[in-house]
Amino acid sequence: MLPILRSRQLAQRCLTQNKRLLTPYSFATDRHGSMLNRASPPPIQVLLTESAGRGVFATRKIESGELIHTAKPVVSHPLLSSIDKVCYYCLKNTPKGSNFEAQKVLFCSEECREQAKGFYEVEKEADWSAFIAHCRTRSLKYPFLAKRLACMVISGVTSADSLNVFQPALLSPQIISQYPYLPKQNSVTNDISQMEEELDLLRCALEGSGMKTEHLSFLTIEWYTGVLSRIRINAFRIELAGGSSYEDLLTSAYASVESEASVGNAVYMLPSFYNHDCDPNTHIVWVENVDAKLKALRDIEKGEELRICYIDASMDHDARQNILSSGFGFKCSCPRCLSND
Ligand SMILES: [Zn+2]
Ligand SMILES: [Zn+2]
Repeated sequence: MLPILRSRQLAQRCLTQNKRLLTPYSFATDRHGSMLNRASPPPIQVLLTESAGRGVFATRKIESGELIHTAKPVVSHPLLSSIDKVCYYCLKNTPKGSNFEAQKVLFCSEECREQAKGFYEVEKEADWSAFIAHCRTRSLKYPFLAKRLACMVISGVTSADSLNVFQPALLSPQIISQYPYLPKQNSVTNDISQMEEELDLLRCALEGSGMKTEHLSFLTIEWYTGVLSRIRINAFRIELAGGSSYEDLLTSAYASVESEASVGNAVYMLPSFYNHDCDPNTHIVWVENVDAKLKALRDIEKGEELRICYIDASMDHDARQNILSSGFGFKCSCPRCLSND
């Protein structure tokens, strides 16, 4: 497993010079992006910059260790290997009940079961075995996020263009289809046809459950590749902090989080606007479930850009540059990289 925490925009932006406020992005909370405390909004704003796309900036001094905000995912999904271990909605570790086989998925609480109705009522009517087999044999994880999003669209809890707020993805079909690190045996044509095959399997499963064609009209190849490419560059790999308590994470600014293995993947709205830095001032953590917590790693001055590290920061300069360029499509020019560290 490569030490990638997340994927990001192509024309990645490590430069904050020439910052110019074009339009403050409204991060007002909605049901997908609730903040920790609605009474006091988080001390950040998303700005469009001239040279670096969107970025997140401090609106006041933020102290080391401070919890900046939390974020709920727009869409999330457990890994296949975690389906029998974590909540199907919030990814919290959940013991299997005696009726697990009959129910096939776990929910940690009635609240999660209720929340999951937005996709699960549609999903549970369909036979997904061919879709799952296709993804399992190719070790694909992102199509499951696309599938969940499709079910959410059908049940009306989100719109088909809900991911369009993210940067248009300009990645090649090969990267989108999730094979950036494999030898290039697959031609671009094959990558596209693989996505067509996935979409067919997705559509067939839904049609087989008696879904009316008009409810599936949004499932075009343009929709699927657009969604998959945005997921590919914006998804976070969720690693729960396990034994660390919430307080530990907040008080020990530099404590490394003892992560358990990845349990799933998720796409968030606000956290997606954080740019990358190999020596970041902000950290994203998951304590017990898929809700992301953004925490200051050191004192951050008012007006300073908040950045997270998309990869394992302990790698050396060349390894970081390789992964950032092959998997994320940009050359990092953060201060640490510029000093050849
Ligand atoms: Zn749950
Ligand atoms: Zn760097």
